[in-house]
Amino acid sequence: MTSRKGLLIGLVMMLAAAVAAFGSGWKTAGQSAQIKTAKAADGDGARPTALSVERLSATEKTAPAAGSAAAAASLFNAAALRNAELQDTLSWAFGGKSQRGWRLYAPLVGGLIGAEGGQTTNDFAAQLSRWQQQRGVAASGILDNSTWSQMVANWQANRIKDHTYPTPDELVTIPPSECYDPSRPEELRKVHRTAYAAYKRMIAAAAADASLGLQVTRDGQLADGEKYFKVISAFRSREYQAQLRAQSPNSGRAGLAVNSPHFTGRALDIYVGGEPVSTKDDNRAIQTQTKAYHWLVKNAARFGFRPYFYEPWHWEYVGQ
Ligand SMILES: [Zn+2]
Repeated sequence: MTSRKGLLIGLVMMLAAAVAAFGSGWKTAGQSAQIKTAKAADGDGARPTALSVERLSATEKTAPAAGSAAAAASLFNAAALRNAELQDTLSWAFGGKSQRGWRLYAPLVGGLIGAEGGQTTNDFAAQLSRWQQQRGVAASGILDNSTWSQMVANWQANRIKDHTYPTPDELVTIPPSECYDPSRPEELRKVHRTAYAAYKRMIAAAAADASLGLQVTRDGQLADGEKYFKVISAFRSREYQAQLRAQSPNSGRAGLAVNSPHFTGRALDIYVGGEPVSTKDDNRAIQTQTKAYHWLVKNAARFGFRPYFYEPWHWEYVGQ
């Protein structure tokens, strides 16, 4: 059936192709519910509700045979309702901890799939189904476990791969005024030269963006009183990291990291609101709603920075 449809797409014009895209999304909706059922056995807690399965198959029965616009609208309406649930209920695991929902990552998801506006809209579901189709997964428009795994893998794959330790002459010192904590000692204000140059270009662009309402000096720098976009932490030497571990062996990820991207000098923790570096969900909920964070999600790639999806403040310079 799929190959016949593929043939059709080859023959008809753009409009027909778009309709086919909707149609295939509609056809795979029921399939997607089955994938979720199978996934539940993995122990990742993806418990599909009977409701969602019912709703999807109901759509399938009542939808017209061809992918009409009405069928597509109805499909994406159902998908949007399901997304509204899953953004708070999807069970997954990360860093040895069980996680719930993907609401915190909605800005990143929107950027990834090219959807403007809210994650519970029909437009989001339609855009997601296109993204899913491009990646060969069931184009349901529903952000379920398999789609979420793909997204996480995508973000993780775009992080720093070259973990070369910098030579002393590759490091520069950030002036105290550019640090979130201006009293930060000099040895903790080091950053890789190229990452710093890119950071400066990025921050100049942010400072020039009036919609952010940042306190800016006359020469376009972030003012001393401005906290957003200031550097919390950059290069961390192996010695310093070992010291952190020795001081508090149970200090959590930052203290325990033995292969931190901060060793490269090209990972920057940038202030985006809330408690600077707390992974508590309620803190990340504050951070991921700030204008500063949304701006970074939209613009950081232009300057060669990629996000670490789990920590809104952590950005890695990978070059353009
Ligand atoms: Zn970091």
